[in-house]
Amino acid sequence: MTAKPVQQLRIHGREETQVRVIPESVDGPSEDENPYWLGEDGDAALPTPEQGCIQRGLCCKSSPGWYAPGEVEKAAELLGIAPDVLVRSKLVVDRIEVDGQIVHVFAPVKLDRFGKPAFAPGKVVDELYRMLKGTCVFFDGKGCGIYAARPLECARYLCSQPAERNLSHHELAQMWLQGQ
Ligand code: SF4
Repeated sequence: MTAKPVQQLRIHGREETQVRVIPESVDGPSEDENPYWLGEDGDAALPTPEQGCIQRGLCCKSSPGWYAPGEVEKAAELLGIAPDVLVRSKLVVDRIEVDGQIVHVFAPVKLDRFGKPAFAPGKVVDELYRMLKGTCVFFDGKGCGIYAARPLECARYLCSQPAERNLSHHELAQMWLQGQ
C-alpha cells in the first residue's frame, strides 16, 4: 500500500499538528474486553448499568478516552490556553485503522507511576502506549478536572454496560474521517 501525503489535524482552522499517514495496519487492544475492573474484588463489587457512573475513576486511571473533532478546542478554552499548547503539553495523538486508512485522534496523556507523562505529549504514540494502563493527566484524584470538556469517549463510556453500547474507537475515528 502506498503511503499517503502528510495528514493535517486542524485546530481553530490552522494546521497546528502534522502527523504522517502510516500505511501498515495497526492492531490495538480488543474493544470486547473491559480491562478496568481487573484487580477488583470480584463480580459482587461491580456496579450495574442502572447506577450510571459511580465515579470510582477506574477508567480514568487506566485508559483515557479519545476526543471527537472540535473538542480539543473546547478543552483548551476551559483551561484558558491555546489549543496547540494543550496538544503539546497534555495530549498525545493515537491512531487506528479504519477501512484501510490510518486515522489519527487526540487523547489525554497517560501518566506513569511517578506522575510523569508515560510518553512525550504532542507526539504520535505507538502500540506500547496503547497497551499501557496509566492515569489520565486530567484526573485530579477525585474526578475529571475538565469534566465540562472531557472527551466524547469519556462522556459516553460506562464501564458496567456491554462494550457495544459504549462509543468505540472505530466510531470515533469515523467522526474524524467525516470531519464531524
Ligand atoms: S478526560 Fe476526564 S473523564 Fe476522561 S479519562 Fe481523563 S479524567 Fe477521566
